Amino acid sequence: MEIEGQSIPVHHIGSKNKELLQNLAKEHGTPIFVINHEQIRDNYREFKERMPDVQVYYAVKANSNPEIIKTLYDLGCSFDVASMPEFMLVYENIKHLSEEEQLEWIYQNIIYANTIKPTETLEALDRYRPLVTFDNIEELKKIKKYSPQAGLVLRLRVPNTGSVVELSSKFGVEPGDAVDLIVEAFEMGLTVEGLSFHVGSQCTNFENYILALELSAEILTEFELRTGEKIKLLDIGGGFPVKYNPYVKSIRTLATQLNEEIERLFSPEIQIMAEPGRFLVANACSLVAKVIGKAFRDGKPCYYINDGVYHTYSGQVFDHCNYPVLSFKDGETQISAVFGPTCDAFDTITLSAELPELEIGDLVFSENIGAYSHASSTYFNGFPPAKVVHINK
Ligand SMILES: *Cc1c(COP(=O)(O)O)cnc(C)c1O
Repeated sequence: MEIEGQSIPVHHIGSKNKELLQNLAKEHGTPIFVINHEQIRDNYREFKERMPDVQVYYAVKANSNPEIIKTLYDLGCSFDVASMPEFMLVYENIKHLSEEEQLEWIYQNIIYANTIKPTETLEALDRYRPLVTFDNIEELKKIKKYSPQAGLVLRLRVPNTGSVVELSSKFGVEPGDAVDLIVEAFEMGLTVEGLSFHVGSQCTNFENYILALELSAEILTEFELRTGEKIKLLDIGGGFPVKYNPYVKSIRTLATQLNEEIERLFSPEIQIMAEPGRFLVANACSLVAKVIGKAFRDGKPCYYINDGVYHTYSGQVFDHCNYPVLSFKDGETQISAVFGPTCDAFDTITLSAELPELEIGDLVFSENIGAYSHASSTYFNGFPPAKVVHINK
């Protein structure tokens, strides 16, 4: 069944889980954002199994819920943070360690992967010394002044063709300028430890990864020839696609290609890291909301529910994602509109959901809504973000 160009997600929940979601809604009220920690663990394990030599840094921005961070921390995951508050969310898990152990853990397990950092952040980071990314000379000057002990990773601009969320217009040095910028950093007394890229989020065009790996290999070779020095880290970023629909190729196919290309292009000593965000959390969360109003407009049933695009469905705006609205009821369906609760017509979740006839008080749900959803929810119009409920913690 096609809904606004997307078919029903592959990670279909069974009737047992539907019952669970309904029971949780009864217990907690609505809207609820349900996080299944076992699914997060499965996703992490799958990633590690497919790419055993890659160190996994969870991109916290996909979903910064502290319990998700804790679950991944307990599995031995590392973290990609992009702001000081995100850094502190991860730090919370290691604050019981001695200062020396903390510094060691941070250096081994955190990358601050926002290439643009306020000077206050650089000052605050200096004592923790995580890896930090950069992509321009002005940033290098700031780092030199405010965070001179940082280990640096240069972000490359790479093709984002066909990725759902494009990042190359905002980040990354042109590949032709990369070696000069690395050399300049060393001349300033800074240490460049690695190279990174991001092929764009929800990358279903795997050629982006291959081209990015080839560019990286060329740059590392040129740097080595020019200086005799070696760069030992390669960060292949995020972008690992989620099977929102059956047409998305599996991570298995991508992993096989990545493993082969990495082996072909780089020396065995190179350390590879990745920053999956979406892949680890998207299919681990569901939303349950309630029908709070009902009308017929232009002959079409219209349902008003108590979550919308200013809230958990924000990913429809910021993440270019569609989350089919599903019913717990069976029965003949009609094309229906579903609106969020705010007084803005923009708060339209869909004009073409296939839904059976619903009554006020009925529950609806959406699956695969764990990434870039609750994280960008607002308090617009006085409606708070959906309550978070954890299962299988
Ligand atoms: C957003 C982001 C990620 C995560 O991307 P996904 O597509 O969710 O895997 C990783 N690295 C950086 C630098 C990012 O900005």
